[in-house]
Amino acid sequence: MRFIKLAPAIFLFLAFPLFSDIPKPLHAPRAYDLLRGENLKICVPACYYCDDALEIQNIGNHQRFCQWNAAEQAETYDLLQRIANTWNKSNYAHNYLAYGMTTPNLRSERFSWAVIPYPDNGWNRLKQIRVIWNVAFGSPQNSDEERVAKATSIKEQTQYLSDPYMPDYGSGKPAKDAFCDGKVIENQRVFEGKRINVFYDRAPERIVDENPHFLITPKRHAVKLTELTEDEYTESMETAQKIADYFQRDNPRCTLHMLHKTGEAAGQTVPHWHLHVIVVKDDAYLPSFQFPCVKSPTSCTRISSPFLHLQRQFGRIWQGCQNFIYLMLPNRKLTDEELNERVAFYSREFEQSF
Ligand SMILES: [Zn+2]
Repeated sequence: MRFIKLAPAIFLFLAFPLFSDIPKPLHAPRAYDLLRGENLKICVPACYYCDDALEIQNIGNHQRFCQWNAAEQAETYDLLQRIANTWNKSNYAHNYLAYGMTTPNLRSERFSWAVIPYPDNGWNRLKQIRVIWNVAFGSPQNSDEERVAKATSIKEQTQYLSDPYMPDYGSGKPAKDAFCDGKVIENQRVFEGKRINVFYDRAPERIVDENPHFLITPKRHAVKLTELTEDEYTESMETAQKIADYFQRDNPRCTLHMLHKTGEAAGQTVPHWHLHVIVVKDDAYLPSFQFPCVKSPTSCTRISSPFLHLQRQFGRIWQGCQNFIYLMLPNRKLTDEELNERVAFYSREFEQSF
């Protein structure tokens, strides 16, 4: 009798996994984590581009950039705002850069954003060169112990991470910059979303050959990351995911580099927030990106033969030098005809594909 009364409860208990999302395994908390959200965390990075960089990582199942869903993009927005807030409040830095790279070529891509501050009283031009150097050659790696020690050493500038912050969306009124300019919008736009525009860069990055180079901007005038609304940020990222999918669908060698800058010291040249999406179609040019961690005993560079090891090391250095020179050189401006041709091509392609 008692069993019959309990039967519906037992049935529901057994059938529960069929009706609910199977809970995703979360990565265990680490001593170098600074703040954990629902799906993402802020931590001290393993591969670092500079000593005070922070990293936003997914702690759930969605490791690849294209898998991050709307909720995770919204949470990234929140964590980025918290990082900006703590650096502002502790008077550490008002300028910063976020950099991420997505490649289907790595067996287990674990996409993350490296967030790099440019301190108010720092040698920021030198720091920019150092960051470019680490991107070109592949960044060195912190051991777990080093990460924990760094988490302690940057405590002062990260003390306000969990504090509430006040968004400041700015006036939103059009300004005199390029991305509010009707002519630029007409000549360079390859895609129009609800709140964002995608432009083809007038002076695209060149690593050996020209790299397709897009700029995703909010239609509303916003200068800094902290002036963006959550909707503008998430739509920018969803559009970047569509661009990644378009290029990577049939090309597993294609790598996308994404970055956005706030403030002149971080290298922001147009005072209207924009996300750079730079496409490297054949990452044979960029072997250092496939072996990003120099010191790691567990990284993908585990090579058995000493000769092969040496050969690869020389290859890396040679390639790193080329990458560094290309990244440091100013990019050539396209002629009007070249620009028109690229804009027409990608407008057509994205209209069909998105
Ligand atoms: Zn503007």
